[in-house]
Amino acid sequence: MAAPSLASTSERCHEIAQSYLQIEEPLSQIIRETQNAIKLTQKLLLNEIFPRWSPFNGEISFSYNGGKDCQVLLIIYLGCLWEYYKTNMNGQEFPLKTLKAVFIDQDKTFQTLEQFVESTKKRYSLSLYESDRNHTKALSMPEAFHKYLGDQPETKAIVVGIRYADPFAQDLKPIQRTDDGWPDFLRLQPLLHWKLAYIWSFLLYSGEPICGIYSVGFSSLGDINHTLPNPYLAKTNDLPLRYQWEITHGCEGVVNCSPLSSQDSHFQNNEYLPGWYLLDDSLERCGRIKKNKT
Ligand code: FAD
Repeated sequence: MAAPSLASTSERCHEIAQSYLQIEEPLSQIIRETQNAIKLTQKLLLNEIFPRWSPFNGEISFSYNGGKDCQVLLIIYLGCLWEYYKTNMNGQEFPLKTLKAVFIDQDKTFQTLEQFVESTKKRYSLSLYESDRNHTKALSMPEAFHKYLGDQPETKAIVVGIRYADPFAQDLKPIQRTDDGWPDFLRLQPLLHWKLAYIWSFLLYSGEPICGIYSVGFSSLGDINHTLPNPYLAKTNDLPLRYQWEITHGCEGVVNCSPLSSQDSHFQNNEYLPGWYLLDDSLERCGRIKKNKT
């Protein structure tokens, strides 16, 4: 089957966001707060970002690693792209065939995640720049972005799916330049105000495929040598599922997880609940092992 066009994908993502915003009953606190979070992200994109850096001429790129946060932001971003096109260019052909995106693929990560990035690259029509992986001397993130900007110098700003709950993120701003030690560009961070619960409520409602590694106890994905199932998701903790309504009444009616790869199949041992059983932002990274400073 031919991959859908970026125009039809953007329109579909617009429908997903609008459908979530129209939920009236039952308006749980999580759904109400998530609706407000979506509206703020849309406002930042449509009123602050797109008028300054056109989403249609290559000035903006999207940092994508297949994780839940950037996937949520991607769905909302694509929906806004559709709205911006309809408002500003109606009557003309949709101006993009693919969305410019960048994946710094330096660390060894889960094969399931690699496969998910590959399949969603097609699903969302991403022209995904993937940094060369060099196992003898992997580039640091700033070095990899330096190389990226050398290859794609028209890039002025890069969208990042970071949230205030992430490490060192509490003082970030939705639009800001990179820090010293990083190549100079604008960071666009319109997801900062999202909590973990909003991410899962929206993603499970969307019916979009979710990276399968989340289904076996992972809540935050780092490199394969420093990421384990989250102990707070052990089945012995007997956590309730808070998003049954979103799953049942959402766009597909089921949770749609990507298949676990053969390399990751040993995680399917029935000991852990899926990542979306975790509500508390402060426990999200409890499956991450701290890296030794070298
Ligand atoms: P996650 O929660 O997985 O990542 C948060 C978001 O970062 C993702 O949603 C995705 O959009 C992006 N991201 C993470 N890993 C990758 C990857 N491998 N490839 C592509 N995108 C990825 N830190 C600074 O201290 N100063 C800076 O100026 C600075 N600028 C940055 C600019 C960009 C474009 C990016 C992507 C990161 C930058 N960072 C900077 C690092 C950033 O603040 C986070 O520390 C980093 O993204 C990892 O976040 P995390 O561990 O929370 O992982």
